[in-house]
Amino acid sequence: MVKAEAVHKHFGRVEVLKGIDLEVASGEVMCVIGPSGSGKSTFLRCINHLEKIDAGRLWVNGHLMGYRQKGDKLYELRDKEVSAQRREIGMVFQRFNLFPHMTAMENVYEAPIRVRREGRGKARERAAALLERVGLGDRKDSYPSQLSGGQQQRVAIARALAMEPKLMLFDEPTSALDPELVGEVLEVMKQLARDGMTMVVVTHEMGFAREVGDSLVFMDDGVVVEEGTPRDVLADPRHQRTRDFLSKVL
Ligand code: ADP
Ligand code: MG
Repeated sequence: MVKAEAVHKHFGRVEVLKGIDLEVASGEVMCVIGPSGSGKSTFLRCINHLEKIDAGRLWVNGHLMGYRQKGDKLYELRDKEVSAQRREIGMVFQRFNLFPHMTAMENVYEAPIRVRREGRGKARERAAALLERVGLGDRKDSYPSQLSGGQQQRVAIARALAMEPKLMLFDEPTSALDPELVGEVLEVMKQLARDGMTMVVVTHEMGFAREVGDSLVFMDDGVVVEEGTPRDVLADPRHQRTRDFLSKVL
């Protein structure tokens, strides 16, 4: 579902991703951990083509992101074609970014109607079902300001799912939440994983990584230092840098 091959990205003279090679199979959950500034968010943004990579290749669902391949030649895609590729990917951020003037329902069905030209009736029906799925069936008409952070984040997940993505990216989805609200968001993500969604999750929730992750990646300073099953990486890290990091967060 995701394949990164020697992905490089720099901002100005700062090299933020120094050759990332990773693969996520369909239906798998990959968790990514690492210190602040190590390039985790940038990597997610590259997968989603919110950032353009400088070198290397990235495939999502078999599509080479940003390019069309003809023989051994690559052609850059137009914005419209890139948007179509990006529609297969849902993303959830640390900050929920809901539209404040729209209800939970409206936040969820806005993109299906505007972007996918879905009929209003059908879009509403699907939005209602998605809000049920994230446990907010009774808050459909609430505005973001009337919802807790955990509820807003669950609306954000429903909104991403409304576009029927093949892949979901989560960038520290619980880091901005009060501790007592973290569990309800993780529970929705666990259910999503059980339903077979392919997910890449940047998180410092080691319990979640251990329970739900098929693989765990430790990034530091723009490289993948270590990758393995969560059990192996957490219990028996091979690299000193991983050990140092884990000793700080566990
Ligand atoms: P992480 O998510 O692991 O904390 P980031 O991917 O956000 O790390 O950032 C990695 C590095 O890239 C940081 O040094 C950050 O300052 C830098 N960076 C991220 N985005 C930009 C940008 N748009 N312009 C310049 N530098 C950036
Ligand atoms: Mg980040």
